Parts: sequence; C-alpha cells; structure tokens
Amino acid sequence: VCALDPQSKVSDACASYADLDKLNHLIQPFVRRLANDSDFFSYYRLNLYNKECPFWSDENGLCGNIACAVTTVDDEKDLPKIWRAEELSKLEGPKASHPGKKQQAERKRPLLGELGEDVGESCVVEYDDECDERDYCIPEDASAKAKGDYVSLANNPERFTGYSGEGAHQVWQAIYNENCFSRPLINAAGSSSSGFGSSPFDLNENQAKAALDFKNVMRDRDRQQALESGDLIDALDFEDECVEKRMFHRVISGMHSSISTHLCYDYLNQTTGEWGPNLQCYKDRLHNYPERISNLYFNYALVLRAVGKLRDYVQDYPFCTGDPAQNQHTKNMIRALAYAVPSGPDIFDESVMFQDQTIDGISLKEDFRNRFRNVSRIMDCVGCDKCRLWGKIQTAGYGTAMKVLFEFDENHATDVAPLLRRTELVALINTLDKISSALKALEEFRDMIAAEESGN
Ligand code: FAD
Repeated sequence: VCALDPQSKVSDACASYADLDKLNHLIQPFVRRLANDSDFFSYYRLNLYNKECPFWSDENGLCGNIACAVTTVDDEKDLPKIWRAEELSKLEGPKASHPGKKQQAERKRPLLGELGEDVGESCVVEYDDECDERDYCIPEDASAKAKGDYVSLANNPERFTGYSGEGAHQVWQAIYNENCFSRPLINAAGSSSSGFGSSPFDLNENQAKAALDFKNVMRDRDRQQALESGDLIDALDFEDECVEKRMFHRVISGMHSSISTHLCYDYLNQTTGEWGPNLQCYKDRLHNYPERISNLYFNYALVLRAVGKLRDYVQDYPFCTGDPAQNQHTKNMIRALAYAVPSGPDIFDESVMFQDQTIDGISLKEDFRNRFRNVSRIMDCVGCDKCRLWGKIQTAGYGTAMKVLFEFDENHATDVAPLLRRTELVALINTLDKISSALKALEEFRDMIAAEESGN
C-alpha cells in the first residue's frame, strides 16, 4: 500500500504498521487454531432467523444465493455434550435466572452455576439478552430457553456470497449514519425527533450514496476543503471530530475493510466455479483506499489490546466444553495469546478516551455505547444469512473489545471481573481471527501486485 509508510504509527493507536505486521506473523496461525479447532471457540449460538429488522421492512434485499446460506447444527449429537438442550436446561432454576442489576453490582465474581453431577465442573451461566449497562452490543442469548441456533463457525467461513446492491448498501449506509453524533439517536421504529429529516434514511438513495462516497473520499483529503463544500458534509458531521468519534468511524470502516478483504480473498469465480483470491476485487475496494486499510490495522490494535487485558481474567474463566483436558488446553492457548500481546498501552491507549465529555447532558460514552448497540441491531437487517452471521459476530466482538477496554480494570481482574458471556468471548476471539487473517490476505494481495508490476 503505497500511501502507508510501514514505519509510521497507526493514527489513534500506538503501534506502527510494521510492528503490527510483525506481531501478526507470530500470532495469526495461533489465533486461527484457537478459533477453528477448539470446541469452545468454534461454536456460536445465536438467533439468526427469528429477529426482524427493527428499522425497515427487510423483505427486499434478501439474498437467495446458495452461498448466502448458513449450515446450522441441526442434530444435537454433533454438538459437544455440554451445550445440548438437556445439559443447558440444568442451568435453569433460581441460580441461573438473571440476577438483576442490584445483585450484579453486589457480586464480585462471575456468577457460577453447577452443571450437574456427571459433568463435575462449574460453568458461567448464560444470561438472557437483557443488557448490562456496560454492554456495547445487544448480547446474543445462548441459554436453552432462547432457542437460537448453534452454528459451527469452522463450517461456515466468511467469504464471497454475492450479496450486494440496494439491500447491502442500505445496511452500510445505516451503519455509517450511526456515526453522526450530532444527530439524535434513532429508535427501533426508525424515527428521530430532529436532524435533517424524520429518519436518517430519508435522504434519497442517490443522495445518500453520494454522501457516503463523498464522506469517504474527503476523509483522505484536506479537511479544510471539505468545509467549503456544502450541506451534506455538515449533515454527515465529520469535522471537529474528537478521538472517540473517530474511533467509532474507524471501527466500522475497519470492519467493512475486513469483510471486503475476506470476500475478495475467498471469491467465487462464476465462470470456472472455483474459489480463490480475486485481485481486481482487492484493487477496487481496498488497494486504492489507504485509509480503509489503516482502519483495519486500527481495529487490530484495539482488539489485540482488549485480548491482552484479559490475561489474568481468563485464568479463572470456566471453559465448559465437558472435557477437562480440552478446557485446560483452551485456557492455556488463550492465556498464551494474551501474553503474546505487549502489555500496557504499547499498542493502543484506551486511557485517553472518554474523559467525561458530555453532549447535551448525555455522556459521550453513553451516547457512543447506545450508537454501537444500534449498529448491532442493524445487523438483523442484513438480507444474507452468512453475512448476518459474521456481521453479528464481528459487531459483538468489537462490542466486547470496547467493554473490556472501557469498563474493565485489569489490575483488579480477579476480584471485579466483567461478566463476559461465552458468546462475548467467542465473538472477541473470532473477530480477532477475522482481522488477523485479513491482514495476512492483504499481504498476499500486495505480493500479487508487486509480482504483476515486476512482470512475473
Ligand atoms: P460496499 O462494500 O457495499 O460499500 C458501499 C460504500 O461504502 C462504497 O461505495 C464506499 O463508498 C463505502 N466503503 C466501502 N468500503 C469502505 C470502508 N472500508 N470504509 C469506509 N467506507 C467504505 N458480501 C459477501 O460477499 N460476503 C460477506 O460475508 C458479506 N458480509 C456482509 C456483511 C454486512 C454487515 C453487510 C452490510 C454486507 C456484507 N456483504 C458481504 C456485502 C458487501 O459488503 C458489499 O456490500 C457488496 O459486495 C457490494 O459492494 P460494493 O462494491 O457495492 O460496496
């Protein structure tokens, strides 16, 4: 990427591109194994089909391609025994009910519930999907009563699906619109009390697309010029950004870059029927947009820092796969990973963020959190099952990373631990895996371009 100097620091993070690449060479195969090969991290339970899009009618834009489908685990026998309904139902009862805010505040350790005599270990109780005030995401409920589906993540890789057009653009547009902090937060019915219309979606399609494109181009240019260019820019509010608002944009844009990288890297050649890297796709979506790539590195730094912060916390985390040897192995792996991340703010310094600013009486952090929760709700509007699956996992992963960064004191990891649900930890590690493998794919794309340029 010609415009990114490897030695320069990723802005708003503390590491250089070269440092992060070096670290990624070390940990990428390890993260891959952890995400793909361990029962704990390779199954995810979520409500993939039963949640309606809360913002608009999602009948249009559904993806009928076979590549959009998700293979769910329909036969419980294919699941580790511990997650079958029969076992999960042992978690129900007074101990497993939602403890309520007061009890949560009083409790110093994660709630532990017995799994039953034959299992002989205790497990973190999966709550219902009521939000904890520290959550940056609408949690997936993995309890037996939620009736979600189990998905083997290893069997449903993120790749090209063919989902595109108006439906996909509407979702991206809605996600980026959440970044307009000056505008009132939309509610689930899609209405807002003021702003430039009754809802953020009432720019017509062309205006909105133009605004989005314009916004992205302008970010790469002199901001002074942007000031002179009219109303849409004001509406999109990207001037005078504080670091937190920039972070919001970078997280979303970096996630978008990761998705684009995966779909370009594992692309279906519809003429030959073969899957493989599509260099033109990479050129069109990423190579000529250094800022998009920079945002991916930013996300890598952010998520890595969160994983590093959990190094003591995971020591006491119950990895309930039903097999004590596997539990220990999984724990050893995630601890080794957390220790591989340089400690302290060498990679990302979250301590400079959210220093008590308020906008109209609402703390910036609360506003930020609510907006990110909205992004996770928007994922229910994605019309392609496979894209929705990975969209939900990744928003949950970034939400977890932010919860760990901004709500958790690593120096008191063992006495005031955050209640990370299994779904949150699984989402965090799989999101790291997505970013880390995207960075690796980008290197391969760069090599292909170098080879092309040198005529090989
Ligand atoms: P899009 O990627 O749709 O981008 C729309 C506009 O956003 C662009 O015109 C550009 O102005 C801007 N933009 C693009 N990238 C960035 C960036 N990184 N940062 C800032 N702005 C940007 N398709 C698959 O094949 N597989 C998947 O797994 C998949 N997952 C998806 C998950 C979600 C949540 C969504 C909403 C879509 C997903 N899609 C997936 C569809 C895919 O992301 C694209 O929307 C689709 O391929 C059409 O691409 P496009 O070239 O029209 O631009």
